[in-house]
Amino acid sequence: MKSLLSLVFCLVFTAGARAQTALKPPTETVLDRFLRYVKIDTQSQEDQTTVPSTRKQLNLANLLAKELTAVGAQNVRVSEFGIVYATVPGNLADNSKVPVIGFISHMDTSPAVSGENVNPIIHKNYQGGDIVLPKDPTQVITAAKNPILKTLIGDDIITADGTTLLGSDDKAGISEIMTMIDTLRQNPQIKHGTLAIAFTPDEEVGGGIEKFDVKGFGAKFAYTVDGEDLGEISDETWSARTATVTFQGKSTHPGTAKGIMVNAMYALADYLDRFPHDMLPETTEGRVGFVHPYTGAIDVEQSSLKILLRDFDVSGLDAKEKLLRDMVAQTAAKFPQVKITIDVKENYKNMKEVLKNYPALTNNAMEAARRAGVKPFLKPIRGGTDGSTLTFEGLPTPDLFTGGTNFHGKLEFNSRRGLEKTTETLLNLVQIFAEKS
Ligand SMILES: [Zn+2]
Repeated sequence: MKSLLSLVFCLVFTAGARAQTALKPPTETVLDRFLRYVKIDTQSQEDQTTVPSTRKQLNLANLLAKELTAVGAQNVRVSEFGIVYATVPGNLADNSKVPVIGFISHMDTSPAVSGENVNPIIHKNYQGGDIVLPKDPTQVITAAKNPILKTLIGDDIITADGTTLLGSDDKAGISEIMTMIDTLRQNPQIKHGTLAIAFTPDEEVGGGIEKFDVKGFGAKFAYTVDGEDLGEISDETWSARTATVTFQGKSTHPGTAKGIMVNAMYALADYLDRFPHDMLPETTEGRVGFVHPYTGAIDVEQSSLKILLRDFDVSGLDAKEKLLRDMVAQTAAKFPQVKITIDVKENYKNMKEVLKNYPALTNNAMEAARRAGVKPFLKPIRGGTDGSTLTFEGLPTPDLFTGGTNFHGKLEFNSRRGLEKTTETLLNLVQIFAEKS
């Protein structure tokens, strides 16, 4: 009850002069929704040929389809790939004057940690200090490593019990979007244009978004609700390439190898030794890019190495590619009998290249957060997002926070305020688009 009231009060307070009457609460609080969804195992799996990669993701997809219908969404459908689509009709005199805005979250949880039998625990009225997870006391969310905890004093913190991840990534985003729709349904006085909704499978294994029907979705712009701490908005991702370096030697029986055998492994070792230590994932952060040899194979006849190249700027990425090619030339000079080739492939580009042309998307999101009493900040994503894929397919899609922290691990958490303030931000956002159009 307390959460329900506090959400109502927050909404009334921040809507200020815009809302003359108190908002009716949603039929279910965002926290209760969240606690229900995280208990449904939706872990995805790497290297599968099907989408979704695991059938169990459909359990949540089908439930969400049912619940979307119950909160008044239309055209609710689950595609053959397990993507849930729906439309929330606008309630303006002329909806065509406001762009259709999309909201997208993913249903799957990371393959890194089990998502089976998630037992969410509410640590009520957090008063500071470390949080020990009850089923495994070695799992501790420390105040030292989680400075965000300082901002959560008095809040209710939600964690798993120490044996699984929580799945806030991204069931928080789903709960927040669902509660936004539920609240809009209860409060027709909140004016908004048409909204397109999608819940996707396999975000964590990078397969679901390729099956996304951008045209059928029908949005002009969209937001993924899949970020972390309250206020974090991202309109930048890496630009990414992958290099494969192949070292061709010559194998022969070692008993009669003198003057014949050319062992490719030594050339690979020499090449690996040339990587600059200050340009690796383990030595960089923030806006600094990296090169990352992440897998390979060694053999006398042929050895090979795969390398990730990451940078926020294409010029920085070009420089890294040149570095890898120069290193090839240096190793080749030292091992003239080994034939070395390098092949570089483009993976994805920084979505900022497109989003810079749509500043209102980021600005409106920042304004929506401010109206909810949340201080917004821009954070470049040291990775790719489903939004970056969609952005280059013609649907500009920045990423919004969910209130969650420590994704993909047993120390993952979110909070009541995180869930409520994100929901409030989404409600503000749809109103801002209506106001400004
Ligand atoms: Zn996520």
